Formats: sequence, structure tokens, C-alpha cells
Amino acid sequence: MNTNLKPKLKRFASATAFACPICLENLTLVESSLKCSNRHSFDLAKFGYVNLAPQIKQSTNYDKENFQNRQQILEAGFYQAILEAVSDLLASSETSTTVLDIGCGEGYYSRKLQEAYPQATFYAFDLSKESVQLAAKSDASWKVNWFVGDLAHLPIQSKSMEVILDIFSPANYAEFERVLKTEGVIIKVVPTSSHLKEIRQLAQDQLAKQSYSNQEILEHFEDHCQILSSETVSLTKSLTPEERQALLAMTPLLFHVDQEKINWTRLKEITIEAELLVGKIKIQNP
Ligand SMILES: [Zn+2]
Repeated sequence: MNTNLKPKLKRFASATAFACPICLENLTLVESSLKCSNRHSFDLAKFGYVNLAPQIKQSTNYDKENFQNRQQILEAGFYQAILEAVSDLLASSETSTTVLDIGCGEGYYSRKLQEAYPQATFYAFDLSKESVQLAAKSDASWKVNWFVGDLAHLPIQSKSMEVILDIFSPANYAEFERVLKTEGVIIKVVPTSSHLKEIRQLAQDQLAKQSYSNQEILEHFEDHCQILSSETVSLTKSLTPEERQALLAMTPLLFHVDQEKINWTRLKEITIEAELLVGKIKIQNP
């Protein structure tokens, strides 16, 4: 046991669900690296995360500034309704539950949920190293196991997770089935057609699609999961000029929109609305 480990890295000593992204053998902490029995080794970064997808070429589409804008909007409480609803759902889990946060971005949900559930173990990842770095830097709990990871090859042991949190992120149901315990559940959060409706209205002349439908995502979820519950949560909140600027800069909807052509001062408030589904993976060949 390494007693010289920096406080921010101590959490990895008890992170027993990591698997090697190359050979899927268990990863264990040796000095300041996670290592498998086949001598694959992954160094812990000083901010408190580990890169378990070093082969991935980092995208420049989401840059650091984008994640900082996201953090500003999230911390201002625009997504509070989603956070509270997810938190309520976790309340029915055991206190020591193990949660995997898919595409955690700058880490808002895992950070807040870890505070609310100090006995729970959170594993949170994103493909973007910059976002994971920001997540780890912002984590005052020093508890969440942040990592850079690939959704297609989760560096997580089979049957190790009680809950998968998939908030506005893509899904990989084959991997979800592998890493979930038999009784494990997926909490899937999907935007509704009213999500960001005020932005959509102002930008409608330039948008390829006039309205958004989550039908395809919901059908995909139902193909793979038995739905245990569903609810819609919504929050409309007024924007300061600074928040408006951050929101417009972070919104993927507007990546191909010429924002100069739109009078954004008319954007006074914004609606964040999502459908929360809880599901259990269907047994394919019973
Ligand atoms: Zn290995």
C-alpha cells in the first residue's frame, strides 16, 4: 500500500470496478498507476482522474471554453429539475450503491449526487479529456472516480454496477448489459421537444429541423429495456446577459447557425425539459 499517495488520488485505492481497456482484466492501484496482471498501466493524473482511453484522438469540437460555459449554466441551476429528479430516484437505491455516469461532461451530476449520497461510489467518464479534467478539478469531495473512457469499450468490470446514469448522452446497451448487475437499472434522461424551445423559436429560419423529436431514442430504449417508470421534468428560468451568452455558446443546436443574424436580446428565459426513464435490461434469450 502506498502511503505517500496524494489525497486527491486516494479514492482510486478503493475503486475496485475498473477493468483494463485493453484486456478487461481487473485494474488495481500500484503506486500512482492503475495496472492489470498483463502489465498494462495507466497513470493517475494529479487532479484526480485517469485516462483509460489513451488511444482516442481528442476531438476539438468541444473545447475547454465550451465545457466552462456548460459548467456556468449547470451551476446556475438551469438543470436543477433534472438533478433533483435523478436524486429522488437514487434515494430508493441502497446507500452504498455503485453508479456509472455515462458522458459526464464537466461532471455536474456526479459531483452533486456524490454530495447528496456520500456512501455511494460514483464512476464518471467522458471521451473528452478536457471535460474530465475540469470535472476532477471542480470536485471538492475528492471521491468521484473520474476517468476518460470509451462508451464502446467501457473500462469497467462485468456485473459491477447497480445504476447507470445516461443523461443527454448516447447509449451502448450491449456494454450496459455487461457492466450492470442482474438487478441493476438504467436511468436514461432524454430531452423533450420543449427543451430549449425559446432558442429553437428564434433560430428556426436557420435550423434544418423545425422541431425535435426524441421518439427514436425512446424506441431504442424500449427495444433493450423494460420500462419501470417514466416522468417528465421541466424548469423555465430567466437568463442574465452573461448566462445567455454562455448558453448560446454551449448549445450544439447552434453549432451550424449564424448567430450574428439573430437578435438574441429577445431571449429572456429558457426551458430545460426532459423525460426520465428508469429501465431494466431485457433478457434477450430467456
Ligand atoms: Zn490489461
